[in-house]
Amino acid sequence: MTEDKKPSGPDLSRGVTLAAFKDGKLLGHVGEEDVLLVQAGSEIFAIEPACSHYHGPLAEGLVVGDTIRCPWHHACFSLRSGEATRPPALNALAVWEVSRDQDKIVVQRKREMPKPSVPHRTAPTPEKFVIIGGGAAGFAAAETLRREGFAGAITMLSNDSAMPVDRPNLSKDYLAGNAPEDWLLLRGEDYYRDAGIDLRLNTNVAAIEAKTRSVTLGNGDRLPFDRLLLATGAEPVRLQIPGADQPHVYTLRSVADSRAIIKAAGSAKRALVIGASFIGLEVAASLRARKIEVHVVAPDERPMQKVLGPEMGDFVRALHEENGVNFHLEDTVEKLDGTRATLKSGGVIEAELVVVGIGVKPRLALAEQAGLAADRGVSVSEYLETSIAGIFAAGDIARWPDPHSRQTIRVEHWVVAERQGQTAARNMLGKRERFEAVPFFWSQHYDVPINYVGHAESFDDIAIDGSISGKDCLLKYRKGGRVLAVASIYRDLDNLKAELEMERRRG
Ligand SMILES: Cc1cc2nc3c(=O)[nH]c(=O)nc-3n(C[C@H](O)[C@H](O)[C@H](O)COP(=O)(O)OP(=O)(O)OC[C@H]3O[C@@H](n4cnc5c(N)ncnc54)[C@H](O)[C@@H]3O)c2cc1C
Repeated sequence: MTEDKKPSGPDLSRGVTLAAFKDGKLLGHVGEEDVLLVQAGSEIFAIEPACSHYHGPLAEGLVVGDTIRCPWHHACFSLRSGEATRPPALNALAVWEVSRDQDKIVVQRKREMPKPSVPHRTAPTPEKFVIIGGGAAGFAAAETLRREGFAGAITMLSNDSAMPVDRPNLSKDYLAGNAPEDWLLLRGEDYYRDAGIDLRLNTNVAAIEAKTRSVTLGNGDRLPFDRLLLATGAEPVRLQIPGADQPHVYTLRSVADSRAIIKAAGSAKRALVIGASFIGLEVAASLRARKIEVHVVAPDERPMQKVLGPEMGDFVRALHEENGVNFHLEDTVEKLDGTRATLKSGGVIEAELVVVGIGVKPRLALAEQAGLAADRGVSVSEYLETSIAGIFAAGDIARWPDPHSRQTIRVEHWVVAERQGQTAARNMLGKRERFEAVPFFWSQHYDVPINYVGHAESFDDIAIDGSISGKDCLLKYRKGGRVLAVASIYRDLDNLKAELEMERRRG
C-alpha cells in the first residue's frame, strides 16, 4: 500500500458480519494492509486482494471450491494457503487466520508465507533432467520440478542471452516505455542458484540423441539426460521480399528484439508495421504511445478477423484508428528500398522503422532431427509425452489432443505454455497427469484488454452479448451448436465463468 492510499473498507480485525458481504466477498483492511474476505461454501477465508501476476483485483474474481481465480489473466490461488495454483501467477499471496463467533467474523494474524521460490528438496538423487528452452514452458517446468520436491539435477538450456522473461510484456508496457526492464524477469538470478537449477544462457542445443539419451550442444559438448523436455517455442516468420534483410527491419520475440525496436524508435518519426496480427497491433499501440506515426499494412480485410470474427475485427481497427494508426488493408508490401516501402496497390510509405509481425512458426528442427513424430508441431500425448518415451514437449511447439475442441491443437498462448510446462514436469516425475486445461489468452490494445478462452479454429456463427464498441461484451464462437470459445472485453467474470463451464463440460 502506498503512503497516501487509505486502507479500503472496514477494519476486519474489529469484526464484520456476513450481511456486509457482496457476492460472497468483502474488501477491508487489517492495519495498513488490504484484505479480502471470501466466502467459499460454509467457510470464510482472508487473502491478499491483488493477484501476484499483474495485481488484478481478486474481489472481482471467481471462487471455485476453495480457490479464487483472477479476472484479468485467470491465475488461481488457494484460499487456504495463498499458494499460486495456476499460472500466470508465480508467487503466493498472504493469507490471514479468520475466527467466527456466531455472526461475527474477525480477521486474526497473518499466516507465515510459504516460500515457493526456495523449494524444499530432499536428499539429492542421481537423476538428470534436461530442459531445452528458457521460455514460459521451460521455466514453469523447472520451477514445478522443484516445487514437487524433485532432488535430481535440472539443467535448463537456452540459446537466448536473457534469463526467462515475461514475454507478453515485450510488445506491451515494456515496448511502450511504461515498464522498466527489471519487471521483465520471471525470477532473479538468485532463484536459480537457490533452487539448484543450472540455467545456461547463450547455449544452443544442436542435436538430441534419443538412443544414447543425450543432447549435443553447439560447442560439441554432450549432456546426458534421464528425462528431457523440449520447449523451444516458436520463431517469427521472416518476410520474403526484396529489402527485408535491412537493419531497420525488425521482428519481435526476445528481449534483445524489443530493446532494438525501442532504440530505433528513439530516432524514428514514422513506423511501418507489416501484418495486423496480435503482436503487430500491440507493437503499433506501443509505438503510438511513443508518439510515432504508425502505418499498418496487411492482406486481411479486417485485423484479427480469422480468430475474433468480423465484428471484433472492425472494433480493433476503429480502436487503433482512434489512436492514430493508419491502416492499409487488403494490401501487401512488395519491396523495401531503404526507408521506402512500395505496396502492391502502388502506394509508397516512407518509414525509418519497420516491424514485421506476420506470424510465427514452431521451432521444429531439433524434434525433426531427433526423429520425434511431428505434425505442424511436435505431436504429444495427453501426458505431453512425445513419440519417444521419456522425451516431453510443451508450449508453442507442442500439438496435443485437446479434449475441449476434440481435436489436436497447437496454440501460441503464454498461459498454456506455462500450464503445459507444469504438467510436463509432473509427468517427467511419473505422475501421469493429463493436460486438460482450457486454452486461454489475452491481448492488450491501449486501455482495452481482450480475453479469450477455448479454441475455435473455425466457427459457424458468433453470439454477441452487449456492445463491442461500448467495450462491454461477450462473444460466443459456435460450431455445430457448441460454444467452442468465448472472447470478452471488460466482462472478466463472465469470461472466467465460461472457462469453468468448459472445464466442467470436458469436450
Ligand atoms: C512479443 C510477444 C507478445 C506476446 N503476448 C502474448 C499475450 O499477450 N498473451 C498470450 O497469451 N501470449 C502472448 N505471446 C505468446 C507467448 O509469449 C508464447 O506463447 C510463449 O512464450 C510460449 O512459450 P514457450 O516456452 O513455448 O516458448 P518461448 O517462450 O519462445 O521460449 C522458447 C525458448 O527456447 C529457446 N530455444 C529455442 N531453440 C533452442 C535451441 N536449439 N537451443 C537452446 N534453446 C533454444 C529460446 O531461446 C527460448 O528461451 C506473446 C509473444 C510475443 C513474442
